[in-house]
Amino acid sequence: MTAPTHQAIVIGAGFAGLTAATALAESGVQTALVDDGYLGGLITNVGLLEAPGPYDGLSGADLAGDLLGRAMEAGVDYQMGEITALDQQGRLWALPELEISAPSVVLATGAKLRTLGVPGEERLTGLGVSQCAFCDGALYIGQDVVVVGGGDAAFQEALHLAEIGCSSVTILLRGDAPRAQPNFVERAAAAANLSIRRNCKVLEILGDAGVEGVRIRSTAAGQDETLPTYGVFVFVGLEPRTALAPPQASRDSTGALSTDNRLQTSAPGIFTIGAARSGYRGSLADAAADAEAIARAIAGG
Ligand SMILES: Cc1cc2nc3c(=O)[nH]c(=O)nc-3n(C[C@H](O)[C@H](O)[C@H](O)COP(=O)(O)OP(=O)(O)OC[C@H]3O[C@@H](n4cnc5c(N)ncnc54)[C@H](O)[C@@H]3O)c2cc1C
Repeated sequence: MTAPTHQAIVIGAGFAGLTAATALAESGVQTALVDDGYLGGLITNVGLLEAPGPYDGLSGADLAGDLLGRAMEAGVDYQMGEITALDQQGRLWALPELEISAPSVVLATGAKLRTLGVPGEERLTGLGVSQCAFCDGALYIGQDVVVVGGGDAAFQEALHLAEIGCSSVTILLRGDAPRAQPNFVERAAAAANLSIRRNCKVLEILGDAGVEGVRIRSTAAGQDETLPTYGVFVFVGLEPRTALAPPQASRDSTGALSTDNRLQTSAPGIFTIGAARSGYRGSLADAAADAEAIARAIAGG
């Protein structure tokens, strides 16, 4: 068996991976951080973060750049590459694409936004269907838009669309009650151009050269109707990106990786943090707590 190139390798430079790699390096662990080029991950497209503590009010892209700077200062070895496999070599895990290896690998591969999977969605993506209000919202100033979803991300992006001047923003909820935190729900209720439509399911997104409407079913009344709209913003949850984990690492029903109290999966030496981890609660504060915990687990041996 060859000697490891590093003591730990963190895969994924979203918020969780960046903070974990820095915490590991600051704890004296020789650490590589590997990313597929999408620095910052999910926060990259968030124009104004809402996060109690030091990150509140920052843009996600600025924060990611700042965190990478801190990681490099701490001595993290940052490398680019999309990793497709982990090879077990005795006690070590090797990344064939980059020819690096370590006894501990931290999967910080995060999650991707789920889509609705309804007719019209894929065809009209970029033509009125979007998953980023901060990137595309300005195109809809003075227009009617809908936001599909009931969690924090849906409410945060809907509030942004209302604030920049969409004439109406309608949040479409599948169920009766939003899952978003009360602060978001209260601000939505106070916005004159924002309304919530409960118990409805999107059946189809309509339009030829661009979005013209959505066909929805009222689940309470069992009736279908068409809502005219120019934009459809979809925030219906996250799908953990865990394909890289070895088959012996157990997953929960969502595909997220289960861990013990040291954040180690059932594959020895493979750890996971952030949105790829089963039980992750979803905020930057939770990811920062994971980063501290992983540094303690790996540096402490
Ligand atoms: C729209 C939206 C708004 C949000 N707003 C807030 C907010 O205001 N405040 C807050 O506290 N939280 C917010 N969140 C939640 C927060 O963004 C996430 O909890 C957090 O960013 C998760 O970070 P992560 O590093 O675990 O995952 P990710 O951000 O998904 O990062 C994973 C990284 O791993 C990389 N990667 C994946 N697979 C591979 C591979 N095979 N090889 C190499 N690299 C790989 C990806 O490219 C990515 O860079 C928001 C979420 C969304 C969706």
